[in-house]
Amino acid sequence: MTQTFDYDVVVVGGGPAGSSAAFSAAKKGVKVALIEKEESIAQTVRTSGVTWLDAIKEFEIPKECYNPIKNYGFCSPNNKVMIKDKIPRAAVLDVRETYRWLAKKAEHEGVDLFVQTNVNDVLKNKDGKICAVKAIKSNQEIIFNAKIVIDASGFQSVIAKSLGVVNQWKRFGVGAEIEAKAEKIDPETWWLMVGEDYSPAGYAWIFPVNEKVVRVGVGVGKPESGIDPTERLNQIIEKKLGPIKELGTITKLEFHYGLIPNEGLSRKTVFDNLILVGDSAGQANPLVLEGIRYAIRYGRVAGEIAADAIKSGNTNEKSLKKYEEIWKNAIQSKINSASKVQSRWLGLSDSEWDKELDIISELSADEFLDFIKADFGLGSIVKLATHHPKLAVRQLFNLVKGSSKKN
Ligand SMILES: Cc1cc2nc3c(=O)[nH]c(=O)nc-3n(C[C@H](O)[C@H](O)[C@H](O)COP(=O)(O)OP(=O)(O)OC[C@H]3O[C@@H](n4cnc5c(N)ncnc54)[C@H](O)[C@@H]3O)c2cc1C
Repeated sequence: MTQTFDYDVVVVGGGPAGSSAAFSAAKKGVKVALIEKEESIAQTVRTSGVTWLDAIKEFEIPKECYNPIKNYGFCSPNNKVMIKDKIPRAAVLDVRETYRWLAKKAEHEGVDLFVQTNVNDVLKNKDGKICAVKAIKSNQEIIFNAKIVIDASGFQSVIAKSLGVVNQWKRFGVGAEIEAKAEKIDPETWWLMVGEDYSPAGYAWIFPVNEKVVRVGVGVGKPESGIDPTERLNQIIEKKLGPIKELGTITKLEFHYGLIPNEGLSRKTVFDNLILVGDSAGQANPLVLEGIRYAIRYGRVAGEIAADAIKSGNTNEKSLKKYEEIWKNAIQSKINSASKVQSRWLGLSDSEWDKELDIISELSADEFLDFIKADFGLGSIVKLATHHPKLAVRQLFNLVKGSSKKN
């Protein structure tokens, strides 16, 4: 027998985007269901979980959920840079704790969380408008009626794809990572590792979770490279390449694997009664493939705008458009800049990477982080592109200057 529930907003996917959208919609007083197909929130981890302390503050993520970072190591085949800061500005999240905290926050606002519930269809009313999603929980069919559906299902974009309003991402990053105990960890220092041996189109990383646990991973851009990141990860760990050697004995605890879109802001993200958010919307910085802070921030915006639309009695595309304007205006220029740097980096040979690291070594911690985060406003780029004491750095920032439109 089919069970039926009535909600104002139905959010598909209990990742950072979905939990945040559900939270902010419920906070505005509408009735919200958050649907997750796995047994529990963040049962499977698909991310390395690096983010920034300013974002952590903005979202009020509790201290127990992250490990602060203040030293940024960058290593190429024959070069090495260590940019040290006085205070931590980055962090490695305990992904499970953080994502569960986000979902709990939503439940505290009155959201009904359904786990082990796999959404497999979208229903339309007689006017051809989205009105419900269909799901399976323990072999039982459930229909969730909704005034607005939020597709927060991540890379797969299950709702938007089944409606035929988007196509599968063609350009994306694939990452494989182990979370492992290691003998010698500097918990305040991360490593990015570049060059052919680490990844022919991407990079490898060491991100410390605490004094005893690190994440070591490899990311590969598709379709640029055909290599399998899991195989490459096993190889670099076996060879103890670069800073991996310094970790001493490594004992694997967990394996993580995931996909992240890398097509810039190519998707339309609002339709009648439907909003796309997080990876489903393509909200990620392509340079270092980070999307958690955008998923949370614009998840919250999506939830608020959905609730406002429901209260106004009009949930058509036009009344949801503000969401797309807000997020695209905020990050379009950053994503464009990051794409330009990414194109440059994808073309570098090992010896060119060695030279690129000489340029990176000229950056202050602030400049380096702004660069990696793609968080520079036009003012700061123009300043760096014209006044930085080193010509090579001026050239690097000139590259991104052309693509940045606003602060
Ligand atoms: C290897 C790798 C490393 C990364 N490292 C970083 C990093 O260091 N920092 C950073 O900021 N970002 C990183 N990212 C990107 C980041 O993980 C994503 O941008 C972020 O997770 C997007 O959140 P989301 O909520 O949109 O999607 P997801 O986190 O993918 O959540 C989607 C949720 O929807 C659920 N779901 C899917 N289909 C259905 C269905 N049919 N029914 C019900 N539920 C469903 C899934 O189970 C999942 O829980 C990385 C990505 C990868 C692949």
